[in-house]
Amino acid sequence: MKKIQMVDLQSQYQKIKPEIDSAIQRIIDSAVFVKGPEVKDFEKELAQYLGAGHAIACANGTDALQVALMALDLKPGDEVITPDFTFIATVEVIALMGLKPVIVDVNPGDFNICIESLKKAITQRTRAILPVHLFGQCADMEPILTLARNHNLHVIEDNAQAIGSDYRFSNGKVKRAGTMGEIGCTSFFPSKNLGCYGDGGALITGSDEMAERLSTLINHGMKVRYYHEMVGVNSRLDTLQAAILRVKLRYLDTFIRARQKAADYYDNAFKNTDGIVIPERSGNSTHVFHQYTIRLNGISRDRLKEYLESKNIPAMIYYPVPLHRQQAFKYLGLEDKDFPVTEEVCRTVLSLPMHTELDDEQLEYIVTAVKDFINKS
Ligand SMILES: *Cc1c(COP(=O)(O)O)cnc(C)c1O
Repeated sequence: MKKIQMVDLQSQYQKIKPEIDSAIQRIIDSAVFVKGPEVKDFEKELAQYLGAGHAIACANGTDALQVALMALDLKPGDEVITPDFTFIATVEVIALMGLKPVIVDVNPGDFNICIESLKKAITQRTRAILPVHLFGQCADMEPILTLARNHNLHVIEDNAQAIGSDYRFSNGKVKRAGTMGEIGCTSFFPSKNLGCYGDGGALITGSDEMAERLSTLINHGMKVRYYHEMVGVNSRLDTLQAAILRVKLRYLDTFIRARQKAADYYDNAFKNTDGIVIPERSGNSTHVFHQYTIRLNGISRDRLKEYLESKNIPAMIYYPVPLHRQQAFKYLGLEDKDFPVTEEVCRTVLSLPMHTELDDEQLEYIVTAVKDFINKS
């Protein structure tokens, strides 16, 4: 059996090697390493894939979130609401921009922002909502967009984990993750569903004006070389990464199906297993399974993780500490009792190996090991 990894990028590369290698060689031969037509082509192809007006490539997903906030004309102390259960980048950029992060609890089923908690957190100073489409499934965008309209708030989507996921509105209309808010942000970190071979990210918007603002911001605030209209940053996508992403974007739907197939295998194996709560599939979003994350009920999560590791099966805790309890955000003075779901989820979640190259032999081995541990507990 092939060695089991959380993410198997070597095996994936072997399948697309000729195309990737020739893309890389093409860029080296052209000696255009920053900007150039290849980046523009990737942006066009990504926008087309998402059914979005514009995609603007940038250096990483964290920068995408920061630049999105920079584009909004917010003032120091303005409040931005975001979920307690996410990767640190989401809340980090809010604080970095001198804004006030307002952290709210999540749902136990899909791990996404809880609409009731969000409603309660809106104040006179709220200016934006920053939902995260965690683990590959969209946050409940319809009520979020309605609240934003009613309270005149911006919506920025953190779509680092759910590229290619579709959200269905109650009127039947379907939109892709990252295209529903004013700006969508994504990451091409190697292990993400659309990953490059280094760092990368993108901003998505439907507005021509906003697209121009975002492209200016990521390139030192300049449209005409050496004329700087605004204070910007240096956050460009390398041309090599753009060329690699153009190849991998063509495989994204195939990659998503492979992840979904592995998730179905896990679901079927665990759905009647006492002690395991399989990930909820929300009724209005497809799931692209950036992670396959179970919750343990009455079983020691940490001991299961150790047991799996003793069988050479990696497993990860995404995420062990809620944002409200991170040392960096202690100054917000938040209390555990206001985040009961995130507290519980951080204690009980475990993410199993999930990638595009898992085969049935590996899946059976993983499932058997998990069940053996449960039966012995
Ligand atoms: C990966 C990730 C980011 C940051 O992306 P980078 O490209 O690593 O900067 C932001 N938010 C979430 C939810 C992520 O998973």
